[in-house]
Amino acid sequence: MKTYDTIIIGGGLAGLTAAIHLTQNNHRVLVFEKQEYPHHKVCGEYVSNEIVPYLNTLGISLSDAVAIDTLQFSTVQGNTITTKLPLGGIGISRYALDFSLYTRALKLDVTFIFEGVNSVDFTNNIFHVKTDSGRVFTSKTTIGAFGKRSNMDKHLNRSFMNKKSSWLGVKAHYQLPDFPEHLVALHNFKGGYGGLSKTETGAVNFCYLTNYKSFKDSKGITNFNARVVSENPFLRSFLEDAIPIFDQPLSIAQISFEKKEAVENHMLMCGDSAGLIHPLCGNGMAMAIHSAKIASELLVVYLNSPTPNRKLLEVDYKNKWNKAFKHRLWIGRKLQWLLLHNNLSNIAMKIVAKSPKLLQLLIKQTHGKPIVC
Ligand SMILES: Cc1cc2nc3c(=O)[nH]c(=O)nc-3n(C[C@H](O)[C@H](O)[C@H](O)COP(=O)(O)OP(=O)(O)OC[C@H]3O[C@@H](n4cnc5c(N)ncnc54)[C@H](O)[C@@H]3O)c2cc1C
Repeated sequence: MKTYDTIIIGGGLAGLTAAIHLTQNNHRVLVFEKQEYPHHKVCGEYVSNEIVPYLNTLGISLSDAVAIDTLQFSTVQGNTITTKLPLGGIGISRYALDFSLYTRALKLDVTFIFEGVNSVDFTNNIFHVKTDSGRVFTSKTTIGAFGKRSNMDKHLNRSFMNKKSSWLGVKAHYQLPDFPEHLVALHNFKGGYGGLSKTETGAVNFCYLTNYKSFKDSKGITNFNARVVSENPFLRSFLEDAIPIFDQPLSIAQISFEKKEAVENHMLMCGDSAGLIHPLCGNGMAMAIHSAKIASELLVVYLNSPTPNRKLLEVDYKNKWNKAFKHRLWIGRKLQWLLLHNNLSNIAMKIVAKSPKLLQLLIKQTHGKPIVC
């Protein structure tokens, strides 16, 4: 049986990015992914420009994506503020983005197995990765890129799995030709907020995050949209005018924003597996891709070394991960707390309305600088 240089568990943005980066550096990579491509995912689909140059070096063209440079924000009552985004971003569906990374990885001869992984055993400096059907594959290094919540988190006994998480995500695409291309809108409602932006198909993505407390009295998403989401006048007019494209919205439950470890059982954790930033920051995808870059660069050094030092690899990864993301996650937590307190968010709104520079500074705090390749 051949031992791979790296096994990657999870073929979302983080896993696919690492697979391409490592293969471009001549390493043999095996990716396990539970779902065939292409597929839709619950996500706001606004990608910060900070990772565009890096994706280009991986051979990913984003020319079909929509350029976005303006943020509109509204409170539950519909008070708004509009500002230029300091760095800007693009609108692209996860259906298209993940699929373009997947096809690039296939071209580079990355091996894919469409099966879930249920356990990883690290013995004698080798990873033994076991799939749902009981097959075992081995590797010198392993990346955990299995997203927000996975059976792997349970297997690793990660502490956030013991805490009940009260967040729910809902997403669907709509037709609304008049929606401006250059805009990402963030609209508040009681117990949550929703983002609107265009994707490469011309469809408008509407994705929201809400807590169960707000959702629980509604009988399903349609009722919740009418009863709670539509209290915000912008969202009410969107839901009245827009034509749904999906048969049913997609939803995910138990979204956790608890702290996680960047290294578990000697695996380097990338993307949401290492920590999820609050979606209002619009930066989770960029962080997933950036963390995969950091892990891949360290793995290339480790795999090419005549005397690889695993301890050093793990310490370096933890330090670099913290340096790149810890502050952003902290600011994201504070902003979400503020946003979901109706009175406080109205006061904050009045303050930032007088100083758009302050709002831009806050946005900068949740984003990185463009990644130097
Ligand atoms: C409501 C909401 C809105 C958001 N909006 C935005 C936004 O507008 N902009 C932004 O930048 N970010 C946004 N995010 C965050 C963004 O979606 C994530 O940060 C990003 O998807 C992380 O990518 P990932 O590769 O870590 O995980 P994922 O894309 O979730 O990929 C993980 C993959 O692992 C696979 N997997 C899981 N377990 C196993 C297993 N045991 N074996 C094999 N495969 C497995 C899954 O099938 C999945 O494909 C949002 C998040 C939420 C919840």
